[in-house]
Amino acid sequence: MIRRQKFSTKDDWVVFSWIAFMHFGALAGFFTFSWQALGVCLFLWWLTGGVGICLGYHRYFTHRSYATPKWFEYFLAICGCMAGEAGPIAWVAAHRYHHTYSDQEQDPHSPLKGFVWAHVGWLFAREKNLAEFDSYKRYAPDMAKDRFLVFLNKNHMIPAIFLTAILYFLGGWPFVVWGMFVRSVLVYHSTWLVNSASHVWGYETFKAGDQSKNNWWVALLSFGEGWHNNHHAFQRSARHGMRWWELDMTYRTIQLLWVLGLAKQIHLPVQPAANGITRPVSELGDSAKLELVEAAGH
Ligand SMILES: [Zn+2]
Ligand SMILES: [Zn+2]
Repeated sequence: MIRRQKFSTKDDWVVFSWIAFMHFGALAGFFTFSWQALGVCLFLWWLTGGVGICLGYHRYFTHRSYATPKWFEYFLAICGCMAGEAGPIAWVAAHRYHHTYSDQEQDPHSPLKGFVWAHVGWLFAREKNLAEFDSYKRYAPDMAKDRFLVFLNKNHMIPAIFLTAILYFLGGWPFVVWGMFVRSVLVYHSTWLVNSASHVWGYETFKAGDQSKNNWWVALLSFGEGWHNNHHAFQRSARHGMRWWELDMTYRTIQLLWVLGLAKQIHLPVQPAANGITRPVSELGDSAKLELVEAAGH
């Protein structure tokens, strides 16, 4: 029987109040709309959600699916902080833990514990090992030895505070409401849908040993992260969309970074074979336990 953690600590109330406050603030969007403010919102959705979370926190920091210069790594971490989800080390620790125990009892956000729980509820009741730095740093030792990342992790609100000030300076309250509140709500739910909807609805290309699914509409909302079954099957792959029509904006961005010389050693799961059918590359450690349900590319 899968068990849920209880809503209990002071931290849980802080997180709950914060998320409620951001949703409440987003309602002011109805009274402050302008096309410019909407443009700012969409741009920051991409910069903080697409670049900060998907390209940075997820594909770079959690899975190291490509290599990048130190200064760009720090830029990604700052963009991730501006998403207002968590510090980079806390986020990465929780996500690596999810992959280790995907859809098992220890999984922090499996929909087997309830859809709403997987979507948002787990954030208000994190297990101690994911809530305290001294505990969760062992899941991200590669990051915990970097002093700047540790500083950002502890002070992850600083980039968001600076961003709020800049938005206020540039466009007053409409920019703050749309650039911070409305945009954060969009980033939150598009990230959370990967944990909830992409473990419930969609198709499985690979038997990944869990409930992960490929879900096209989550992929559209989350810059390609909705191809979540492919991702669970090949966790280190920079590319999540495997078929030609599985649009993966984050992988396209990584390809652009490669052209610019900012992404190297890009990990890929499949190689085109002579007959055009793609197959898993055996050098990927976790591909050995996979049973290919359908060859990608068919
Ligand atoms: Zn992942
Ligand atoms: Zn997952």
